[in-house]
Amino acid sequence: MSHKLTAKVEELSGIGKVRAEKLNKLGIFTLRDLIYYFPRAYENRGDVRTLGMHDTNVPHSYILTVANDVSSVLIKKGMTISKFKAFDESGSCEIIFFNSPFVKDVFHKGTTFRFYGKASFSKQRRLVLMSPKYEPVIEGVELDEFTPIYSLTEGISSKILEKYIKTAVNDLLPSIEDPLPEEIRLKFNLPTLGYAIRNIHFPKDRESIERAGRRLAFDEMLYFALGISLTAKKRELGEGVPFNKCSLDKFVDKLPYELTGAQKRAINDVYRDVVLKRQNGKTPAMARIIVGDVGSGKTVCAAAAMYIAFSSGYQSAIMVPTEILARQHYEDFCDLLGSLGMNVRLLTGSTTVSMKKKIYAELENGDIDVVVGTHALLSDKVAFKNLGLIVTDEQHRFGVAQRGVLKEKESKAHMLVMSATPIPRTLALALYGDLDISRIDELPKGRQPVDTFVVDEEYRTRLNNFILKQVALGGQCYVVCPAIEKNEDDANEFVLDNGIISSSDTDIKNVVSFTEEMRFSLPSLKIASLHGKMKAAEKEAVISEFASGKTDVLVSTTVIEVGVNVPNASLMIIENAERFGLSQLHQLRGRVGRGSRKSYCVLVSDSKYETARERLNVMKSTNDGFVIADKDLLLRGPGDFFSSKADNNIRQSGGFEFKMASICNDGDLFNNAFSAAKEILDSDPKLDFAHHRLLKDEIAVFIYNTSTIS
Ligand code: ADP
Ligand code: MG
Repeated sequence: MSHKLTAKVEELSGIGKVRAEKLNKLGIFTLRDLIYYFPRAYENRGDVRTLGMHDTNVPHSYILTVANDVSSVLIKKGMTISKFKAFDESGSCEIIFFNSPFVKDVFHKGTTFRFYGKASFSKQRRLVLMSPKYEPVIEGVELDEFTPIYSLTEGISSKILEKYIKTAVNDLLPSIEDPLPEEIRLKFNLPTLGYAIRNIHFPKDRESIERAGRRLAFDEMLYFALGISLTAKKRELGEGVPFNKCSLDKFVDKLPYELTGAQKRAINDVYRDVVLKRQNGKTPAMARIIVGDVGSGKTVCAAAAMYIAFSSGYQSAIMVPTEILARQHYEDFCDLLGSLGMNVRLLTGSTTVSMKKKIYAELENGDIDVVVGTHALLSDKVAFKNLGLIVTDEQHRFGVAQRGVLKEKESKAHMLVMSATPIPRTLALALYGDLDISRIDELPKGRQPVDTFVVDEEYRTRLNNFILKQVALGGQCYVVCPAIEKNEDDANEFVLDNGIISSSDTDIKNVVSFTEEMRFSLPSLKIASLHGKMKAAEKEAVISEFASGKTDVLVSTTVIEVGVNVPNASLMIIENAERFGLSQLHQLRGRVGRGSRKSYCVLVSDSKYETARERLNVMKSTNDGFVIADKDLLLRGPGDFFSSKADNNIRQSGGFEFKMASICNDGDLFNNAFSAAKEILDSDPKLDFAHHRLLKDEIAVFIYNTSTIS
């Protein structure tokens, strides 16, 4: 990497210590960080209106000539208003700025500007542009169509940030070497890195934003795929505790059902890893993930693994993301493992101090065989006598980093991860490249598939009647909304690749108002609401009331998606279903059909987009999470899988930062990046070739945030 890229931002002319500290707050430390600080959206300032066609809903550009000099008045202490009139051929308006007396030196009578803002009306019914953004219109100088919008912090305005980025880009680009091998770049029709960086910040047009975004997203996915493959090899060296041969007959005898073939295979995989496998005469530490749909019966596989550990006299720990889930597992394990003579304990944030002390002591002296817990397990005070197995459930909630914490404590413990997010095979190999994979692709016998329907707003009355019917039959209903409260963000932004989001599009169902609406239209029902802004204790209370059948309907955001088990729930309604990824819809649907009741899932969507319809229809056609995940990747691209924002996603808190890949909705690009990675590694498995040196450096930066990789 060029030396200049690693230089501190202070070295850029015009950036002093104070500004540098503010940039640091945005995560910008080096010049590299600066040029890789991508806009979160673009304003479409090329979309010019006349005042006659003004729009009071969303911002537009208006090209106006200043009609009179600026007048500034002090309206109260510390508050000045500066205003002037401006016009175009269709009319005139007033332009107002607050606390910006300097504008009188900017706007002179007769000069023309491109203003960008939302039109509104004053009390006197005059058309007004309030604090618009502005650029002078100068003969012969073309104004940019798209203006980048960056996430900012106090003291760093977008003008300043843009200036810094422009300087850095101009200084550095000529000397930046493209790490991507030329033949790969051409094969997949990607622009150069220089083009991509320049155009992501200062695009000529919409197409250049897209081309730049494609290249940058491709890079991230490629580095990710390469990085995982390079590091995966190192893991094999870890040594694990050897477990003795044992019989699982007693364990299996205690089960009230017959294991499915897929469960048997997964348990066998584990047995082979921890008992039979040898490498240089030693047992390598198991690092295995069991991936299977919600309800496919992963828990019992974990229980079997813990029984194997117990048979050799070792302790097990199972870590889950929520308190509720911990309690559910605890109760299950007490029944099953308790009856096999194992001592099971629960350790969560709400365990009393005295109980915690007792548990810490018993973990240390070996009285406890299995501890079920949340993050509380990661406390410094937790020490084990002989931890042999660490299980993490729903691993994407924790991410790679935390998964490692317990493991560090007991470096020889075996590791088993359970994930209910069926992900496409290609992605699994990349994401879990450091893990062996067991897939549970078979549901226990006798499960009724959940019937799925796609409806629009016109069905509302019928839908309400259907809820009443389900409740009358003794069932319960979930209603999922994409938002918590009314969305205040009405900026006319267009987010890369996702097209323009105008404020008319942002009227989405939110838990707070929709709960009220439902209480109004269904007064006979007990309706509760649940969302991520509520306190943990409140959430617990709402969920446990729903679980015990005291409430009929639970209106919620996707917080209910993780592991809550209410077998009596028979209806899942998802509002604005077009806003969710298929895998997420599938996950949500998995909340019903867990008991004996015939269950239904209703996807409500008014979306007219063909692709949205097509996606929702996939949900109608199959209940197989693996099939759905493959389709999701194909139809929507890998963005949802890489995103750290949406709730359902595979959160890699291990440090990877997918800036572009997280919004990429192009499945082909993803496949291309992965096949490029394979092609590169086939010819040069460790990236030792001189012409791959830059590539290797980039991977190090991407994966480890360091500049070298051994
Ligand atoms: P998940 O894979 O979502 O963690 P669970 O392990 O919680 O699924 O299992 C869901 C339900 O299915 C549990 O009530 C469990 O007792 C039951 N179950 C698991 N395996 C079988 C099986 N082979 N036959 C019948 N029921 C099973
Ligand atoms: Mg589970």
